[in-house]
Amino acid sequence: MHASHQLRVYKFGGASVKDAAAIRNLAHIVHTHGGSGPLLIVVSAMGKTTNALEELFQLAHAGQDYTAPLDRLREFHLGVAQELGVADEAAATPTLTGLLEQLQDKLATLSPGEFDKQYDQVVSFGELLATLIVARALQARWLDCRPLIRTDHTWREGRVDWPTTERNLRAALPPQLPQGPVVTQGFLGGTSSGQTTTLGREGSDYTAAILAYCLGAESVTIWKDVAGLLNADPKIFADTVRYPEISYQETIEMAYYGASVIHPKTIKPLAVRGIPLLVKSFLDPTAEGTRIHDCRHGLLAPAFIRKTSQCLISFESKDLTFISEENLEVIFGALAQVRLKINLMQNSAISFSVCTDFSAYRLEKLLAALREQFTIHYNTGLELYTIKNYDAASIRRLTEGRELLLEQRTRQTFQFVCRGGENEFIK
Ligand code: ASP
Ligand code: MG
Repeated sequence: MHASHQLRVYKFGGASVKDAAAIRNLAHIVHTHGGSGPLLIVVSAMGKTTNALEELFQLAHAGQDYTAPLDRLREFHLGVAQELGVADEAAATPTLTGLLEQLQDKLATLSPGEFDKQYDQVVSFGELLATLIVARALQARWLDCRPLIRTDHTWREGRVDWPTTERNLRAALPPQLPQGPVVTQGFLGGTSSGQTTTLGREGSDYTAAILAYCLGAESVTIWKDVAGLLNADPKIFADTVRYPEISYQETIEMAYYGASVIHPKTIKPLAVRGIPLLVKSFLDPTAEGTRIHDCRHGLLAPAFIRKTSQCLISFESKDLTFISEENLEVIFGALAQVRLKINLMQNSAISFSVCTDFSAYRLEKLLAALREQFTIHYNTGLELYTIKNYDAASIRRLTEGRELLLEQRTRQTFQFVCRGGENEFIK
């Protein structure tokens, strides 16, 4: 057990491998920071490749022409490999051209049904291609994670079978790991019958946590294009500050309220085994970053989170009876049925309101299910703001000049819903 404590896990997301220069930078970080112990490197698809694959898949599944975007994807990956001087070697498996041929075959043989299952078989190529290029650039071992990370058959959101995954990983990567890094895919898993699954968009952080948990890693480092874990998204809010250290608990809550820093499933496996998560900037690798671990800290600077495209739905009983537990059970049941996740809720004597992510399709289904029993009003195009660890000044900063449609505060959290401000930047 002790030797395996030396293992470190690095995770590089799409932005950090977006072109040849970015991959050279990754190699530099691995050489200067990777240390001499065993290192497992998790890599996402390059740049916006996953979006491109989603579009390709949609075209192919709908029977439309996809040759141009497929050519672009092929040229892009081959071009980067060439720029890095990591052309295919005949003896190596797989090869880049081999993977690209497999992708082409998959697209050519899609069947009309099974959208989600076939999505996974196609969209997974982003990570397969990226890891092969990165492994070659580092002259590192390429590891296919799909036979190791075992999931059920929930396509596009595979649920991990932890005991099997732990057994598989420990067999494939014993503590006396050969020297030199091993490169594997984020976001992917596989079923017991050997089919590829994906873990949900942006799931590579979660992969890093799965690997660290199962192998008892010493730490996980996520390399990002920001200086660490910040109190707000700098694309939306001015004057952001970095948290030098923060507890697992606080981080989970921020991810839960919609901060897009780290995939929300990442923290729990690390917290369970006490593995610290370091968030560092690949643009400034010597800077301190953030350490997420089991710690106590004083009051943190308020964190600001904005969720756009929100919908506020209110239900009133038709006969002016009170909103009762029985009524709530019906409403919650219908929300779960149509998979609308509640971001905020509030009730009064005769009405009950929920704020959810807007989906025209799901909302329509909800109305159909409940319209008979309740009078339902809804507003779309709203924003939900959350301030964690709020104070008077931070509330003023966000609420001034806005009409609040709903507000709620607990001891640590202030939330409100208001009309959309066209993605305005907040000073
Ligand atoms: N490439 C996948 C995505 O873009 C997984 C990830 O980036 O974490 O969703
Ligand atoms: Mg990505």
